[in-house]
Amino acid sequence: MRIVQKYGGTSLGDATRIQAVAQRIKTFYDEGHQIVVVVSARAGMTNELLERARAINPEPDRRELDVLLSIGEQENIALTTMALHALGVPAVSRTGAQAGILTDLAHTHARIVDIDASTIIPELEASSVVIVAGFQGVTPKGHTTTLGRGGSDLSAVALAAILEADMCQIYTDVDGVYTADPRRVPNARKITHIAYEEMLELAACGSRVMQARAVEFAQKYKVPFEVRSSFNHNSGTMIKDKIRSMEEVAVTGVALAPRQAKIIVSELPDQPGSAANVFQALGKASVIVDMIVQNIGHGGRANLTFTVDRESAGLAEKVASEAAQALGGGGANCTGEVAKLSVVGVGMRSHSGVAAKLFGALAKAGVNIQMISTSEIKIEVAIDVAVAEHALRIVHDAFELGDEPANQPDP
Ligand code: ASP
Ligand code: MG
Repeated sequence: MRIVQKYGGTSLGDATRIQAVAQRIKTFYDEGHQIVVVVSARAGMTNELLERARAINPEPDRRELDVLLSIGEQENIALTTMALHALGVPAVSRTGAQAGILTDLAHTHARIVDIDASTIIPELEASSVVIVAGFQGVTPKGHTTTLGRGGSDLSAVALAAILEADMCQIYTDVDGVYTADPRRVPNARKITHIAYEEMLELAACGSRVMQARAVEFAQKYKVPFEVRSSFNHNSGTMIKDKIRSMEEVAVTGVALAPRQAKIIVSELPDQPGSAANVFQALGKASVIVDMIVQNIGHGGRANLTFTVDRESAGLAEKVASEAAQALGGGGANCTGEVAKLSVVGVGMRSHSGVAAKLFGALAKAGVNIQMISTSEIKIEVAIDVAVAEHALRIVHDAFELGDEPANQPDP
């Protein structure tokens, strides 16, 4: 079999961890498989490099940033290869450029345009493990690029696609994808199979197991992959195209994004173009808006409420305020933090009553719903931050996602 494995930063955090990873690679190698390993930088390294750059120049040139940021992965390809040599396993390291990972010119967030696997395949056929630096590529003129934070997931999935790998394994520090964050929901269960689109929705809700772009790529090119832990031998979660049985359950997982900001734009003229004006201004300022609610106008005026990431709250308030005032509206106010609770499942397409069950569970727990937003496979509500974790466990139990209902004391 041809296997692509990716190891993340915590899996390669120090010499002992790298040796453990090499041992795991050796096990697969000894079974006669062809193995490509994509590594990321050790945990914290990329942030360290970023800090060093910004200490010298607060706005570093993006090309130079890429020259710097690619160092972290380069350190780990060499060390991992050396660890394999110490175990007697033939292995070679390859930078992104040497592995033929060709990108566009967008430094720090480049897109992969092609992979020339003609140097990797002969190595694999000669029974050598190939260790590739994740997160980096090269422009047609030979300049180093990086693929955006968390980009080594994308490198792995793209290599699996081009090499037509039989298996793509993403090794990380968690056992897989859970029905909810196990740190918040003690009876959360590991999901054995999840559809790409569910994984993407859960990632957008703050469950950060994998880079979203990598999942999108895998979906587009139909690369099934497994997320599993490098710290044990448990099986992980398979992420792949939806299969029929996935639709048997309405809800696959629940997620919480605890720190969102809610902004109310008041007294907007209730006429065509008002919302367009406000959200165009926000778009121009690169503010990413999440949930939006507009209530029914009274006396020619209407209020709009939306949520953004807490970090964008100040900017969003200012921009929306200016836009609203220019329209003769009242202004915009950030009314503090809210938490966003999401329930996700491809089965929602064929099940009714999901919203009723969600709202019923929240009502029974005395949790007030401030905003609601839905898509085909997701329902989200904005709720008070103080009750959010309790609500998450209640909802998780309501959809019977846990091994056993959790015994949760009231908050
Ligand atoms: N080292 C890079 C980062 O921290 C890429 C990765 O870890 O996937 O973003
Ligand atoms: Mg990473």
